[in-house]
Amino acid sequence: MNREKPRLNAIVFDFDGTLAKLNIDFALMKQGILELTAGYGVPTGALQGLFVLEMIAAGKILVSQSYPGNEEEYLRRANEQIREIEIDAAKRGGLFEGTREFLRELQDRGVRAGVISRNCRQAVAEVFPDIEDYTEAVLTREMTRRVKPHPEHLWATLRKLDTAPEGAAMVGDHPMDIRMGKELCVYTVGVLSGHSGRRELEEAGADRIINRAADMAGLVL
Ligand SMILES: [Mg+2]
Repeated sequence: MNREKPRLNAIVFDFDGTLAKLNIDFALMKQGILELTAGYGVPTGALQGLFVLEMIAAGKILVSQSYPGNEEEYLRRANEQIREIEIDAAKRGGLFEGTREFLRELQDRGVRAGVISRNCRQAVAEVFPDIEDYTEAVLTREMTRRVKPHPEHLWATLRKLDTAPEGAAMVGDHPMDIRMGKELCVYTVGVLSGHSGRRELEEAGADRIINRAADMAGLVL
């Protein structure tokens, strides 16, 4: 905690819970995937406790081991199922108030903004159709080989922003955002507008905690 803030050339934001209201029902999503997987007659005990994308990846392996040849169909059905929930949530969702204004402010100050999300492109576009007018890199899950918390997702975003980790911050509402940022030694900022409380973000090692992403505008030199 309290690492001194570097001069920031770029800021990477998580999407749901950070720039947009968090309204995806992850419990429902996971339950659906567990049921789908169980429908293939494989034991699902090992999937409990995983995040949903990792649950699908593990489910695909189980299906391929027990019923080789069915894994692609499983994957397609699983992806369709979660996309439906994500897009439905996006239709009911929205950006936090002031998001466009503060992103514009960052642009005016020459700070590059990027967005990183495990959500699908279509859901992000539903909530924030003009996102590309306000950011220079938007990497949803389709656009990276390994999604966060794998640091490759953040690394690819920084490359697109043409910024080294020392001049960058990662801002997110989930401990995984913070942990991923720390792996690449970027400055990490937890926001209290989504999934996690102050304590969880502190325990993940956030350098700074702010109420909402728009407060970043005040932190940029
Ligand atoms: Mg989030």
